[in-house]
Amino acid sequence: MPELPEIHAHAERLADDFGGQTLKTFRALSFTALKTFAPAPDDAFGTELTTVGRRGKYLLLEFPSVTFTVHLMQGGRLKPDEKQSAKPRGGLARWVFTEGPALLLTEAGTEKKAGVWVIPTGVEIGPGTDVDPFVGLGPDADAVTLADLRVLLRANSMRLHGFLRDQKLLAGLGRRLANEICHRAKLSPFANASKLTDEESAALHAAIGACLDESLAYERSRTDMSSSKERPGAVHHREGETCPVCGDTVRAVEYSRYTVNYCATCQTSGKILADNTTSKFLK
Ligand SMILES: [Zn+2]
Repeated sequence: MPELPEIHAHAERLADDFGGQTLKTFRALSFTALKTFAPAPDDAFGTELTTVGRRGKYLLLEFPSVTFTVHLMQGGRLKPDEKQSAKPRGGLARWVFTEGPALLLTEAGTEKKAGVWVIPTGVEIGPGTDVDPFVGLGPDADAVTLADLRVLLRANSMRLHGFLRDQKLLAGLGRRLANEICHRAKLSPFANASKLTDEESAALHAAIGACLDESLAYERSRTDMSSSKERPGAVHHREGETCPVCGDTVRAVEYSRYTVNYCATCQTSGKILADNTTSKFLK
């Protein structure tokens, strides 16, 4: 799944390519695509796309009166659409502009989870908001201060890897960055978040920033969104490869929906992690 850096660079590219274009129409191509009833998408017709922003893993296509909020989930893509065919493969929604290509939201696979929420432009969508789909979303991972991170950590007695992936705690991180951040911070993915020392939480905060910066720099160097295999990293999906920091072998703990990758020498004082608390078939 694209995470904060991929979505951020994607928003910048969309703003460059579509900013200032006048919206002619918006059409949901699937009945599951549009998640809100009001305000109406029509409120944006005849007005210009002001900018494209981001909150967590959501893209924000901002028009003067309404903002289209798009979540790509696992297989969603939002791309220029030159052909505007009547029934595009995996098509969920289309924005047609008065000039140039349209924008097409597609989703691969059968799990139709990607979607579009229309919200009033300028409404508060930060932590504590009551606007769907942002209700309960934590602060953006690239904006959280060390002090705020420490408050969150202390309040949540859970594994660090799960803490990092929980959008209610920090918005924008996923499985790949959780692996990379734990490795960068030299912390066990199974460490209890609430028990980190001040030194460890400072290392975690620095690692979040460094991993986000590196991924964003890579993503900005591209003309389209990377696939997960292309993204830079030290441990994610690199089981059996050599840790670039210490030369040990990257290890894995498998779950049905994701894999925890780590380096025992860098992160666990050599301890091999095994999950005795849950079956991988239940998680
Ligand atoms: Zn290592």
